[in-house]
Amino acid sequence: MKSPLKPPFNPTVKVPSALARPAFPVRLKPDAGVPSATKLIADYAGPVMAKSQNGIKQITQTIAPDGVGLDSQAVRARMVHKLAAQGLSDAQVLAAMGLVERHRFVDTALVNQAYEDTSLPIGLGQTISKPNVVARMLELLRGGALDASGKLGRVLEIGTGCGYQAAVLSHLTTEVYSIERLRGLHDKARENLRTLRLPNVHLLFGDGMMGYAKGAPYAAIIAAAGGQAIPTAWIEQLAMGGRLVAPMQTASGAQALVVVDKTPQGVRQTLLEAVHFVPLKSGTS
Ligand code: SAH
Repeated sequence: MKSPLKPPFNPTVKVPSALARPAFPVRLKPDAGVPSATKLIADYAGPVMAKSQNGIKQITQTIAPDGVGLDSQAVRARMVHKLAAQGLSDAQVLAAMGLVERHRFVDTALVNQAYEDTSLPIGLGQTISKPNVVARMLELLRGGALDASGKLGRVLEIGTGCGYQAAVLSHLTTEVYSIERLRGLHDKARENLRTLRLPNVHLLFGDGMMGYAKGAPYAAIIAAAGGQAIPTAWIEQLAMGGRLVAPMQTASGAQALVVVDKTPQGVRQTLLEAVHFVPLKSGTS
């Protein structure tokens, strides 16, 4: 008798329709034609397809890196489950976290840690926050004003990094303006986001300490790097009724999350739990 297949093997292999869906996440040059299996294997962590003489055939080889499993959706579902168990409760945030393939934003060598609750290096001395912190900040952000459809309006993100949080934000907002001061990471984010085709994400290269006045006012501002104070430009560019969430250095020298609400009665600042973000720096490089 055949023994039943056990997880993590998933017998219902999803067949990505490489030809039907132009957004298939394989990096192709426009004139590259049908990708070779080797190219697919290099670029895609999942079951792959290749063109055979008589049409499309599926390569049964599993190429997912250890730890991600055959179906990364299942691994993400587990991550979301854990986030919920940790007390994160905003269904929209959890759904968005379940949608974005975090493993596409980290180096190949770190792919097997992509869905663990850990921060990961993204190059140039910077890190991607752990999923729990990303979800927490987005939940706080959504505690501010939402539009009629339950989304945040135009949002400014300071510190694009690898582009992961911008991708999650794209599902929760009407527009995302994300600014990065390191050219290398700005380019990396552009590359990471290219195949995802998120038309509401706008990547900017520049010093986010000055915000991005052209997109203001913002319904919300989120920073992924912490300074000694909240730059005044951010408060100025925040819409009335808008909310800002950022790490900031506290009086004791430690770093904590701060929520700033801009109200007709004035700016209200709430200090929350301790966090560990990379420093907010001025200028570009
Ligand atoms: N949200 C990111 C996390 C990136 S880490 C992600 O999902 O990957 C924080 C980023 O903030 C770093 O890339 C760092 O270069 C950037 N940063 C720091 N100071 C900045 C500034 N003044 N303007 C823009 N980006 C800044």
